[in-house]
Amino acid sequence: MADIIQLLPDHVANQIAAGEVVQRPASVVKELLENAIDAGANTIKLIIKDAGKTLVQVIDDGKGMSTTDARLSFERHATSKIRSADDLFQLHTKGFRGEALASIAAIAHVELKTKQETDDVGNTVQIEGSKVVAQEVVVTPNGTSVAVKNLFFNIPARRNFLKSDAVELRHIIDEFHRVALAHPNISFLLYNNGGESFNLPVSNFRQRIVNVFGSKTNEKLVPVNEDTEVLKISGFVGKPEYAKKTRGEQYFFVNNRFIKSAYLNHAIASAFEGLLKSGTHASYFLNLDVDPQTIDINIHPTKTEIKFDDEHTLYAILRAAVKHSLGQFNIAPVLDFDRDPNLDTTYEQQKRNIKAPQIEVDRSFNPFQDEAVKSEAKPSFSSVSKQSTSFKTTPSNWDSLYVGVASKEINNNDDTLVDFSEVQFESEEQTASMFENEEIEQANTTYQIHNKYIVSTIKSGMLVIDQYRAHQRVLYEDFLKNLTIKEATSQQLLFPLQLHFSKQDVEIIKQLKEDLEFTGFMFAEITQETVEITGVPVGVPESEVSIILEQLISDVENEVPDSNFSAADLLAKSMAKSLAIKTGQSLQKDEQEHLVNKLFACKEPNVSPTNKTTFITMSVDELDKKFI
Ligand code: ADP
Ligand code: MG
Repeated sequence: MADIIQLLPDHVANQIAAGEVVQRPASVVKELLENAIDAGANTIKLIIKDAGKTLVQVIDDGKGMSTTDARLSFERHATSKIRSADDLFQLHTKGFRGEALASIAAIAHVELKTKQETDDVGNTVQIEGSKVVAQEVVVTPNGTSVAVKNLFFNIPARRNFLKSDAVELRHIIDEFHRVALAHPNISFLLYNNGGESFNLPVSNFRQRIVNVFGSKTNEKLVPVNEDTEVLKISGFVGKPEYAKKTRGEQYFFVNNRFIKSAYLNHAIASAFEGLLKSGTHASYFLNLDVDPQTIDINIHPTKTEIKFDDEHTLYAILRAAVKHSLGQFNIAPVLDFDRDPNLDTTYEQQKRNIKAPQIEVDRSFNPFQDEAVKSEAKPSFSSVSKQSTSFKTTPSNWDSLYVGVASKEINNNDDTLVDFSEVQFESEEQTASMFENEEIEQANTTYQIHNKYIVSTIKSGMLVIDQYRAHQRVLYEDFLKNLTIKEATSQQLLFPLQLHFSKQDVEIIKQLKEDLEFTGFMFAEITQETVEITGVPVGVPESEVSIILEQLISDVENEVPDSNFSAADLLAKSMAKSLAIKTGQSLQKDEQEHLVNKLFACKEPNVSPTNKTTFITMSVDELDKKFI
């Protein structure tokens, strides 16, 4: 047989390597910023157009390159940073693989301009898909500028795979933050589509964090410092009360390099144990300095994961250091680590109201019904339903949300506005048709199981509804309707609500402002870092507003755009998720019934907005089979 093995031409090999190094515009940003840092720059400018799809450019004032190096830098395995494999264990630079520029040049149009201080003129090299199209002498300032245009121009599949501009920009900003936070001694600027988004002067670490995340951040930070033989820790953790719903602000820097480590993250989480509300995550910005010989950063092509020699020790030191800081700043209830932790009351327990023992003799008293007793303190669902235009602002009052919003529903048949009572009537009719004229037998035969499911009887057997998913469906359709007919009832706040966000979060809110207004939000002033809210959708408690917006921002950031993506849909989904009654909430009978009725009045009662089953049915036959 003939020989069939051939060596791949360089430009093909480079394209393949590029797949590993460059996943998206943000990967280019990371590589270029790191090269600029390795070049000893004092000021680094990042210029982005169209979320990096059109242009990613990094301009530095570092040491620049000679004429030969300018050309060589685009060769694969061309690096000035290591000479032998041994050097891998003494790394003091970001790069070392010599792959980045070669990979980027294989899949984009690249223009390099560079000049060393000792030279009078600089050099420019232009490469398109690994082909050098020009190399000339140019007049250019000391330092290097690399402009990467039309990323993936020769791999359309990769280009199509890129997400929306909002998502790609988010990745770029994340990357920018990571590098900027790791190097407060370097000044960073970011220009996006011609406007200046960040201007971070040289500063200390704390100021850098504040410059990146907004002035309000300062008061949230608790310093952490620990100096041991194996590990030096410096940095900050966020106070527990500012913990976020999303994992956004969590940063480890090992020897000035951002890394991800689920294991070390766990060490922090365990130091915060008992201090955080469930579902929230502590922020942290921690520099870990270790001997470069004890780590291996070579295991991941994009180098965000590293291997430590002695992870267990690092875990223990980190956990103790964070615990100590929280204690020292009077944040943790426990100062003394030797105390038996079993003696401490957990945070949640402390906050709980102590219930007085019941001593009244009451024949109807059922000791197993304490949930119901508790919920009596809340206004009952039916009383709210009756006064359909009123609203409440207590957080437990999720149910009133139906009321105002639903008070102007569109009747599908004749497009006129009908009042709430008619809608309820209509919903019952639809319920009936759902089950082929099997009505829910009696309105009052609903039960709640484990504060999670609502069970009801239907003629053919029984119905089990997931309360959280069902309520999400109900709210989702309500919100979507408001967004479509662009008409929602708003509730004016007595005192405007000032909320603080990071700059890029404010950008997202600005983009969604119009849609948010259709759900009932009203905005006064939006500045770079604050959002002033003067009105909220009827029934939305003031205390929930920041949670809703935070959730929304994180949903937008993680959105996977597809053909049927729409901002309104995302908004409705996100708000439904935030506001729906959660698993674990006990519901009174009439609340349960109302939810069942509302669910079956929905257009698509079978699934939640995220396509999860909302209810199941079980026929008497199926039940019979269980008793054979
Ligand atoms: P690596 O960073 O792993 O060495 P790169 O492909 O990123 O590989 O860069 C190749 C070489 O080009 C670097 O080793 C460095 O010598 C040179 N280089 C790249 N960017 C710059 C820059 N901004 N300033 C000076 N030299 C640079
Ligand atoms: Mg590099």
